[in-house]
Amino acid sequence: MKRVYPNREYCIGCHICELACMTAHSKSGDLIIAYTEERDEDGLSPCKKIFQKGSECVAISCRHCDDPSCVAACISGALHKDPETGETVYDREKCVGCWSCLMACPYGAIRRHPKMNKIVKCDLCHGREGGPACVEACPNKALKFEDRDD
Ligand code: SF4
Ligand code: SF4
Repeated sequence: MKRVYPNREYCIGCHICELACMTAHSKSGDLIIAYTEERDEDGLSPCKKIFQKGSECVAISCRHCDDPSCVAACISGALHKDPETGETVYDREKCVGCWSCLMACPYGAIRRHPKMNKIVKCDLCHGREGGPACVEACPNKALKFEDRDD
């Protein structure tokens, strides 16, 4: 399946991918409204995390693993693997905020929501024409959406 892969050689840590993610998941679909009014409300928060060490940056998001540790760790059935799409799917209604998945994910791809007792995780912009918004928005082509063997 196609996944989002970061390329740390090209990442400049601009956070535009985070903004694109939030806009794509917002009700308004407008960057300014999403950022100033909708952010943190109703679960809206970027699904990506930018890690920076010195001058090196990398944008991390869920890799939708074939055998996901987060699903095995989840105590409430809030995470499951979709057998058709291969995506690791999150159901916020079922989540009890125990952070087991966050600790189990080997990629550090799960975030705590800044206000809610819930997690935030990439859904590959499920159903979005054009695929994940972060990949489209990156000005330096530091994100690739492709099918690899790993
Ligand atoms: S959250 Fe982590 S463990 Fe779960 S599918 Fe994504 S990358 Fe894999
Ligand atoms: S935080 Fe939510 S999704 Fe993660 S393991 Fe706990 S119940 Fe499952």
